[in-house]
Amino acid sequence: MDNAQIADRLEAFASLLELADANSHTIRAYRRGAETIRAAAVPVADLVLAGRVRELRGIGRGIEARLRELVETGEIAELAELERELAPDLVGLGRYLGLGAKRSLELARALDVHTADELREAAAAGRLRTVPGIGPKIEAQLLDALAREGEHRPRRGLLLNRAWELVGGVADALDGQAAGDVRRWRDSCELLAVVCAAPDPRAVLARFGALPQIVAVVEQDDRRAVGVTVEGVPVELVAAEPERFGSALLRATGSPEYVAALEPLPDAPEEQAVYRALDLPWCPPELREEPFRGEPPALVEPDSIRGDLHCHTTWSDGRASVEEMARAARERGYDYLAICDHTPAVGAVRGLTPDEVRRQAEEIAAANEVLAPFRVLRGIECDILPDGRLDLPDYVLAELEWVQASVHGGQRMPRPEMTKRVEEALRNPYVRCLSHPKGRYINRRPENALDLERVFEVALEEGVALEVNGLPDRLDLRGEHVRDALRAGLRIVCSTDAHSVRGLDNMTLSVATARRGWATTADVVNTGSLNSILGG
Ligand SMILES: [Zn+2]
Ligand SMILES: [Zn+2]
Repeated sequence: MDNAQIADRLEAFASLLELADANSHTIRAYRRGAETIRAAAVPVADLVLAGRVRELRGIGRGIEARLRELVETGEIAELAELERELAPDLVGLGRYLGLGAKRSLELARALDVHTADELREAAAAGRLRTVPGIGPKIEAQLLDALAREGEHRPRRGLLLNRAWELVGGVADALDGQAAGDVRRWRDSCELLAVVCAAPDPRAVLARFGALPQIVAVVEQDDRRAVGVTVEGVPVELVAAEPERFGSALLRATGSPEYVAALEPLPDAPEEQAVYRALDLPWCPPELREEPFRGEPPALVEPDSIRGDLHCHTTWSDGRASVEEMARAARERGYDYLAICDHTPAVGAVRGLTPDEVRRQAEEIAAANEVLAPFRVLRGIECDILPDGRLDLPDYVLAELEWVQASVHGGQRMPRPEMTKRVEEALRNPYVRCLSHPKGRYINRRPENALDLERVFEVALEEGVALEVNGLPDRLDLRGEHVRDALRAGLRIVCSTDAHSVRGLDNMTLSVATARRGWATTADVVNTGSLNSILGG
């Protein structure tokens, strides 16, 4: 058994444990273990047999036992058992209805149902409460969820990157087009839809139901179906008549308010043609939140971005070195990259002291020698202390070429104090950009109490730009706030806050968010040349 095979089995085990609602630490441990094994330079099977496998990072006693079983018998008994027991279709359906995986399976087995329709029948016949563990409260909740036909939203919005992965994957597999919230690049996606031009809708609907992403179909009629993923996330498929594809795409893209204001939509095979028939200019999906019939501005394009001004390296909590990040940025066609590692007050991870900032400078200079004319900029993501002072002394900041200021700790401050704190930091003459201004984590932490209007005033006085952070769970500023910032006369920076080479790809998310705020090329600082950044 080679390393890749062993890693595959561990990953499969992790996925099934996830399906069985197992402890998330355990699941993560197995995934990390699989990653380590895949990357190992020596045959892991030999290490296992020699009793030395725990020398690998992240392999503990529990995983070692599984590995021994796998290497000695060619199987993990519990994995085989889970594969027999778990029915992804029933788990997906149950999760869609608000049940955990275990409860879903109990329910489906007790009622002997396999589809949403069979479950509806059983429910209508009053059989739900015959199932052990289903009391009147859960019965009511299920009946309610089953009755919600036509309205299909996940329990909570999907992060934009996840939503693109899912909807884009389904669209590609069916030669269709991603629509719904992802096509408008909403920060948290609820309406997930794919539109196909289908002369024969039955074929497309059948292919949709058979996709690996879709474990159960909960609704279906002639030209439309709703399927759910194993996480219970609903995806809508519209199989449009080819001559109506444009109108169907526009309608499925939303937002509902935007579309309603254009109705009645004329039928057309392409979206452009629908707009022409309405005598309107085509509207980029990012601007379709509220009713709008005007001429859209020339929004910033991802290709206009000349460099990334916020990323991390192994000096703080990043996974790649200065040179690795810089090479990756150069490969993406950029002219410059600012290395902005953390400062000590960030707390949870490592931060750079003044001495380390200087030592990092040597590494940056070395990278510049190799990579010129590409330019690595000496930057910092400097913590804003609770009193508004910065976490590095001015004489250190003065040496740097790009200073981001960030609130990390102490985010529960009341509004006046938080606003004062940020204001104070913006007054520092070396600060060029305020990172993730609102401090939210989508689905996890609400926005900081911060008076943005006041912050915008001060930023304008001090010539500080506002970041549009491209991390999928941040997207901060978000679209509406970008628009407010631009109206206040400010400029924005589209950044990835990448912690790995792959993280640099989140620029598309940042730019899309800027576009949702109506940003043009001129509004975005890092569409400028290296000289404009250095001279600013
Ligand atoms: Zn940060
Ligand atoms: Zn950062």
